[in-house]
Amino acid sequence: MSEHCWLQAMSDLSSQSEAGKYGIQSDKDLTTFNTLGFAAEAAFFAEVESVDSCRQLLAYARRQGWLVYVLGGGSNLVLQGRLPGLTLRMVNRTLEYKELGGHRVQVRVGAGMLWHDLVMATAEAELAGLENLALIPGCAGAAPVQNIGAYGVELADTLVSVEAVRVADNTPVIFSAAQCCLSYRDSIFKRPEYGVGGDQQVVITHLTLELTRNGPLTLEYGELKSLYRQEVTPLRVAEAVSDIRRSKLPDPTQLGNAGSFFKNPVVSQSIADRLRCHHPDMPCYPAEPGYSKLAAGWLIDRCGFRGMRTGPVGVYPNQALVLVHYGGGNAGMLLDLAEQICRKVQDVFGICLEREPVVFKGDTL
Ligand code: FAD
Ligand code: NAP
Repeated sequence: MSEHCWLQAMSDLSSQSEAGKYGIQSDKDLTTFNTLGFAAEAAFFAEVESVDSCRQLLAYARRQGWLVYVLGGGSNLVLQGRLPGLTLRMVNRTLEYKELGGHRVQVRVGAGMLWHDLVMATAEAELAGLENLALIPGCAGAAPVQNIGAYGVELADTLVSVEAVRVADNTPVIFSAAQCCLSYRDSIFKRPEYGVGGDQQVVITHLTLELTRNGPLTLEYGELKSLYRQEVTPLRVAEAVSDIRRSKLPDPTQLGNAGSFFKNPVVSQSIADRLRCHHPDMPCYPAEPGYSKLAAGWLIDRCGFRGMRTGPVGVYPNQALVLVHYGGGNAGMLLDLAEQICRKVQDVFGICLEREPVVFKGDTL
């Protein structure tokens, strides 16, 4: 063996043992790590249990010159191909309560905890605030990324702060709720500089929320209104929301999907009024002053896509906002269908739909 080959072999060995120290696996199959169920792979993959190990792993990734992809439950992601660099997943599932006096209770949760487990744990503790967000798939760490929301409630209503580690220099950072810039299914964490390879990219490690004992419940959304007539508790609302969702939405373990594929468009009142003249039955909800929110599912349905199937991908028959993967397809096919839907909605209604899930595009498998 030449001296150069010998040195290379020694360096490979030491890098392998260092990678082993951080629990890094290579060529990891990610097919079961995304709820659309597309075949995908990570060049390197690691699960992380603590802030310290997150910081060490990020320092190692930086020494290797790797890009870093952060994965939660993969329920708001379109994964395509082989992701280069490191794919990292927080699996810290801690839950701490702090009484603040009065009816206020602060809850600090690890990013790796399943969101629905957090909702049920707090509802069982008779704390109000998260019950309408029951059965949203994924992990707590992803919740601020798109300011998750359902049935008239969003994370912004209870979020106090987000703890994270910055990828560029593996230092811990804390964002107040205001600094997260949460808005309708959006936050600072969706901006390009916070995305893969961005200089502000972070790994979220904990959230702190403020909930209330005997706090007010939000029951204005159609199917929840009937609960007004009953004796309601946060737990009862969480169970009712879970029942409604089970009856309406496809279970990702049975049929691949990433929930709503498009955001509901928020348009100026004048655009909404003009559309209403031509389509008097079009649903329209109040948004900020001067604006209205339209139901993207209704627009897509009216364009004839509901229940449509093109080979392995299609539009869910019970809710046109959900694109589904029947098996054997790939991300490219789904993104083509999404593009086709956007073009048609633009032609018919003059409305530009915005995609909700994040796309991680890797190298060809
Ligand atoms: P992933 O899909 O793994 O990641 C999403 C994004 O967050 C990626 O950019 C990822 O890099 C980033 N991310 C994840 N974890 C971290 C972390 N620790 N640090 C930094 N970045 C991170 N959403 C709603 O808002 N309301 C709903 O009612 C709703 N219903 C749904 C129903 C179904 C059936 C499905 C499949 C999805 C639904 N969603 C809904 C979308 C999705 O569940 C949420 O957006 C969820 O918060 C995504 O969590 P996740 O852990 O799966 O994130
Ligand atoms: P739905 O009740 O059929 O309503 C269709 C749309 O109309 C919803 O998207 C909702 O907007 C809006 N809407 C209904 N009633 C409203 C009201 N009283 N005030 C304001 N807006 C109203 O919707 P669904 O598909 O069964 O979903 C129910 C809830 O779960 C919704 O809040 C939805 O956002 C949430 N959800 C989200 C995802 C996701 O992936 N993001 C997936 C499934 C369900 P909003 O979306 O703004 O609430």
